[in-house]
Amino acid sequence: MMFRSARWRLTLWFLGVVALILLVLGLSVFYVTRRAFMDGIDDDLRGRAEREAAPLRARVLDANRRGEALGGVTIGPPFTAGGYFYALVDPRGNLVASTQNLDPAGLPASNDIAKAVNTGPRYVDTTSSTGEDLRIYLLPVGGSRNPFVLQVGRSIEPELSALRRLLFILLGGGGAGLLLALGGGYFLAGRALRPIRMAVDRQRAFVADASHELRTPLALIRANAELVGRHPEQKIADNASALDDIIKETDHLNTIVGQMFTLAMADVEAMPLEFAEVDLSEIVQEAGRQASLLAQGKSISVEVKANGALYVMGDRTRLRELLLILVDNAIKYTGEGGSLGLALAEVGGRAQLRVSDTGQGIAPEALPHIFERFYRADKARAREAGSAGLGLAIASWIVEKHRGNIRVESEPDKGSTFIIEL
Ligand code: ADP
Repeated sequence: MMFRSARWRLTLWFLGVVALILLVLGLSVFYVTRRAFMDGIDDDLRGRAEREAAPLRARVLDANRRGEALGGVTIGPPFTAGGYFYALVDPRGNLVASTQNLDPAGLPASNDIAKAVNTGPRYVDTTSSTGEDLRIYLLPVGGSRNPFVLQVGRSIEPELSALRRLLFILLGGGGAGLLLALGGGYFLAGRALRPIRMAVDRQRAFVADASHELRTPLALIRANAELVGRHPEQKIADNASALDDIIKETDHLNTIVGQMFTLAMADVEAMPLEFAEVDLSEIVQEAGRQASLLAQGKSISVEVKANGALYVMGDRTRLRELLLILVDNAIKYTGEGGSLGLALAEVGGRAQLRVSDTGQGIAPEALPHIFERFYRADKARAREAGSAGLGLAIASWIVEKHRGNIRVESEPDKGSTFIIEL
């Protein structure tokens, strides 16, 4: 649920940004194109008007000076191909000459002419009798007093229809782009959230498993404490054994909580390792001594093969912990009279550590899971042995931090060998 809404939020943000980009891009393209079209038309009209005006000026000046009407004038090119129309009006706005294709309905209003007379050349937009948009350039000719006004204009319908097509394409393209962004954004947001979602799921499972693991020892402690409390008159031996159980379960709780803390810290990368040159053979010898101590009650023989110093870059404390986890497991899951081997060797430039036992082994279906948190191949038995299934998870974290790898070879009832390469 939480991820569904986050996914949509991400998608919508993405969509918003894409929409904004498309809008800015589309508007720029449209306005730049329109500007270019309009500038082209204006330059064209002005050029034509100026060419036409040159021979006219002298005649208009002359007519004005004499106060006579301007007669016998023809204007415009011989062919008005391209749809240009020309007109010449006197200062009062009366038409003096024009090309044949002139549409009187499209001529500028008289106040536009007056403005051109008073303030100089200007462009005017008008509409023809058939509703076409026209643009006309008004150029006063013949001095500053009472000039005639030359008009050159044409339909801007071709440009407008090209702009309409462009707008259509931009809107279509923009819409398609938005749809694509919606689909792509939703897909990408899903992918981006997947690892986070997996991490949260893992965390939830961790908390659930942890609560479950803690519940059993707590229940046992409570039951034993009640027993002692209800029967204080009981034989000393019975109460002592209940209290022993309480202590054992408390230790067990302590171990689990400690392991959980290690893993939780590892998850948030809050447990930095301190790397230094470490002699692995020293650590292996030490683990061998600890193994002998642990194995005493079970008559398991311990054999250590670690000849000569072998240096690696590593965190001494963590490497010790790693070996202790493996040795502890080997003894836990090996019966009376078995044997445990610790061997260190250099193989292909890497340090190889083998911890082998002749114990119960691991079933093939359990093998892929034993490094998972809270996984125990034999739930009942492992619980009796006082374990929560976190040891190997910590071991594999330590190995990973050393950029090494850990694997296991095991056969049920024959034994297991854990192999670490650093
Ligand atoms: P635990 O605290 O239960 O030992 P681990 O993570 O250390 O948890 O081990 C996970 C499971 O892997 C154990 O419950 C056990 O079933 C199996 N296992 C680990 N080491 C050995 C071994 N040396 N021999 C047989 N089984 C083992």
